[in-house]
Amino acid sequence: MRLVTFRDGAAQKIGAVQGDMLVDLSELAPDMLTLIDGGPALLDRLWELVARDTTARMPLEGVTLLAPIPRPRKNMMCLGLNYASHAAESARFRGRPTVLPEYPVVFTKAVSAVNHPDGVIPYDPQVSAEIDWEVELAFVIGRAGKQISRDVALEYVFGYTIFNDISARDIQNRHKQFFLGKSLDGTAPFGPWLVTPDELPDPHALGLRLRVNGITRQDANTCDLIFKIPDIIATLSNGMTLEPGDIIATGTPSGVGMGMQPPTYLQPGDTLEAEIDGIGVLRNTVGGR
Ligand code: MG
Repeated sequence: MRLVTFRDGAAQKIGAVQGDMLVDLSELAPDMLTLIDGGPALLDRLWELVARDTTARMPLEGVTLLAPIPRPRKNMMCLGLNYASHAAESARFRGRPTVLPEYPVVFTKAVSAVNHPDGVIPYDPQVSAEIDWEVELAFVIGRAGKQISRDVALEYVFGYTIFNDISARDIQNRHKQFFLGKSLDGTAPFGPWLVTPDELPDPHALGLRLRVNGITRQDANTCDLIFKIPDIIATLSNGMTLEPGDIIATGTPSGVGMGMQPPTYLQPGDTLEAEIDGIGVLRNTVGGR
């Protein structure tokens, strides 16, 4: 199932995508977080509603999609340096030897950074002139848990999505911690939908790519994640409760602008397409000055 949040006049609603049609799920829940909170019982009702022939459907085309969770309850959690190829390009950029992380590197992005499918990423060179891209597989937690063991960790995943961890490299490199350079407004586009795990039985075998103005800059596979999703869930939940609706981005492979020779960053008018097999394409553009 592909679950979306969409705009309906001034309101926001949730829906399920069926081919090129959209099923309005308003009668089940007013928003995605309420749907996730409803657990398996509400999901069962969702499957019934979608399967019914009499359920009203509208064309998906022309519908404005929003980030599946437009206002997360807490900061989005992100893995850093979780592909060896990206750890190597980052070390090269900083003139240091490559050291692969022994434990997951974790930082967060502010909820105010959320951006939407087809959303414009703000560009203000007085704030940052080094805006960079990072395609990532992200997942959303479906039920609360603490000390979650690796062998049951995937049962805690509600769905998967595409995340573009837009990064202000000058800010990121100026400050000792990632938070500020990762949290500018509009630098967390994700979507276009959440894909439930029944459609992605192996999240560690997905090709992922990122194109800037149609040119492929990142091209990798989630099989190369250093810390896999069960490792990430087990690590994060070791002493910290993971809660329904938590968003966790798994890290980016090589091919970011910082790693190019010379480093090359986004410019106003650039278009970004972040693509993951089995999920789709997340498109965004960079705004004007
Ligand atoms: Mg990242």
